[in-house]
Amino acid sequence: MRITNIDVIISCPNRTNYVIVKISTDEPGLFGIGNGTLVGGELALATMIEKHFAPRLIGTDPDRIEDTWQLLQRATYWRGGRAVAAAIAAIDVALWDLKGKRYSAPLYSLLGGKCREGVLCYGHASGRTIEETVEHVLAYRERGCKAIRAQVGTPGYEDGSYGVHASQPITDPARTVRHWEPTPYLRVVPRLFDRLRREVNDSVELLHDVHDRLTPIQVAQLAKELEPYHLFFLEDPIPVENTDGLRLIRQHTTTPIAIGERFNSKWDCLPLLTNQLIDYVRNPLSKSGGLTELRKIAVLAEPFQVKTAFQGPNDLGPLAFAATVHLDLAIPNFGIQELAEYPPEVEELFSGIPTFKDGYLTVSDKPGLGVEINETELRKYPYQPSFFTTIRREDGSLQDP
Ligand code: MG
Repeated sequence: MRITNIDVIISCPNRTNYVIVKISTDEPGLFGIGNGTLVGGELALATMIEKHFAPRLIGTDPDRIEDTWQLLQRATYWRGGRAVAAAIAAIDVALWDLKGKRYSAPLYSLLGGKCREGVLCYGHASGRTIEETVEHVLAYRERGCKAIRAQVGTPGYEDGSYGVHASQPITDPARTVRHWEPTPYLRVVPRLFDRLRREVNDSVELLHDVHDRLTPIQVAQLAKELEPYHLFFLEDPIPVENTDGLRLIRQHTTTPIAIGERFNSKWDCLPLLTNQLIDYVRNPLSKSGGLTELRKIAVLAEPFQVKTAFQGPNDLGPLAFAATVHLDLAIPNFGIQELAEYPPEVEELFSGIPTFKDGYLTVSDKPGLGVEINETELRKYPYQPSFFTTIRREDGSLQDP
């Protein structure tokens, strides 16, 4: 069997641009689908696939997934980078989907079979005030969520607070600047979790995302203050480049740490695993080389008793999300999965994406990803420019978004 064609569709049905890949073969009707994502860099990703990777792959054997991964990573010489890792991810997922269809098996089965019946997941609760966040947390619990990430507006800087407004893609980057300060943030977060624990007792797990906005010593202070509220984990405490900063945080607190959504390879994760600097690894499949690489990251983490918490925001894309949940089902050291919830207009375009019930996600048992796309409809939503919001401090200096 040979690859005969690689189609790239950029579709933006609901603010996020999904870069979808369809790999066709010389066997009539047999094809695979996958997606990569890179907010603010989607065109680079699509060009990488279309102009640089497709010519190398047409005519090759789609069954050789590992060899294809090695070819795209190593034979291209320069190696790595987020656009490359996302482009490899889109192709890798499409090849796994194709293999599943060829052998009539769901992906979790090809990955070793189920280790669990459902995938524990956490929803995103947020509010401009503590009161609003509490209401949102209670609504998630009502829907059956057993774990909930809680974010609250920093008083005086609600519009610049992560999880409230700041992370939403915007279309006018030059004129959209929001502000934020760490000191009122450091004061309000312990108040939020004090209130939440009194409200929900131990009925749900609680999580929080710092989104790389603090320094190591600020995180150490915050994580110590949060210890009485027993967080499931504190996410992205500091920028990922600062491995030594994680060491400092570890010396001061037992609050579990999750990191990795800006990683894109096993090499990024390795020093954090071997030094026991994190408790949960959370690479995004659609920006980390796909199933092939993410499975290896899980294997590397296992002997260190580090669990997975793979990233799952809506911008991961429905096909990459489905692939992630298949992997979650099949690995022994799964920890938790971020819940991506797609609006109805997106679900109509991707039928068979993972379903949420009573706190757990399950996947379709159909071959491959078990997801079908409506190509004609997807093409009706062309690329829309999309950017992260610029966040600045009160004095005008730049702050991580
Ligand atoms: Mg995060």
